[in-house]
Amino acid sequence: MENVLLSVRNMSIHRGKEEIVRSSSFSVYKGAITALSGESGSGKSMTALAFAGLLPQGFSASGSIVFEGQDLLSSDMDMGNIRGRGIMLMLQSAAEALNPVYTIGHQIKTVLRINGLECSDEAVLGLLSDAGIADAFDKYPYELSGGMRQRALAAFAMAPEPRLLIADEITSSLDDENAHMIMDLVMQMAMARESSVLMITHDLALASQYASRIIVMHGGQTVEEGDAYDVIHSPKHPYTELLLRSSELVQDQSGKLFSIKGHMPRPCDEVIGCSFASRCPYCIEDCSRPMDIRFSGSHSWRCIRA
Ligand code: SF4
Repeated sequence: MENVLLSVRNMSIHRGKEEIVRSSSFSVYKGAITALSGESGSGKSMTALAFAGLLPQGFSASGSIVFEGQDLLSSDMDMGNIRGRGIMLMLQSAAEALNPVYTIGHQIKTVLRINGLECSDEAVLGLLSDAGIADAFDKYPYELSGGMRQRALAAFAMAPEPRLLIADEITSSLDDENAHMIMDLVMQMAMARESSVLMITHDLALASQYASRIIVMHGGQTVEEGDAYDVIHSPKHPYTELLLRSSELVQDQSGKLFSIKGHMPRPCDEVIGCSFASRCPYCIEDCSRPMDIRFSGSHSWRCIRA
């Protein structure tokens, strides 16, 4: 499709014999905010690292990840040419992502220079001002509060004006109020620069507030993908249904917190059929057999029930 920025087809991620991501396929569209959601350990962050060419040592990806017509997994791909102006990864921990021995201004100036952009003090101050921390130019990361460090990280991530920003659980260490402030800021900065966004979050409620499209992963499998409205209001996969119940979108009237029972398959487990079978209240014998992805328009899911 013409509007596709990044197309993932049958992507698997292995560490030796372990399978961390199992033949995933989905698309990220130009100019849109897409959310990749699922519990911790579903394979979301490894997927993001594969897109940025930053898988840890010992991990390998197969299948295809096509970004602007180039397969990022081809052996002659130089990811140094893609990271920065092509794909920028904003991590969940500002404390880890920012270098403690350099000022914020110096670090942003460096990323501008590396990407061939104007790296004057004025350019840096403009970015910091957009991020709401104009006075952080001469500050070291340790001199900033958690919220301000996250703002500095937003300025750092948006400095090269990436065509795709991957925001990986960027609000997980913040309280609710600061989380929404940072999400609003990052989305505003991205939209002003016409960057597409892939937000990675375990929180479907948060995803539904920002994304126009949602992809749900479980046990390394993509189990549902569709327009945010369809996925939230008419989920087809039981895992999405239960993930919604465990978020603040569907609260239990008794006030009890809902959690999904059971565990995801481990990377060392062989999964032939549905990765959710051992946790699913609707599981039948056929669920452990290989199954096709089902479609209705641009909504797709991996479940024999719906
Ligand atoms: S395929 Fe079967 S086990 Fe998997 S989600 Fe659907 S009903 Fe449940």
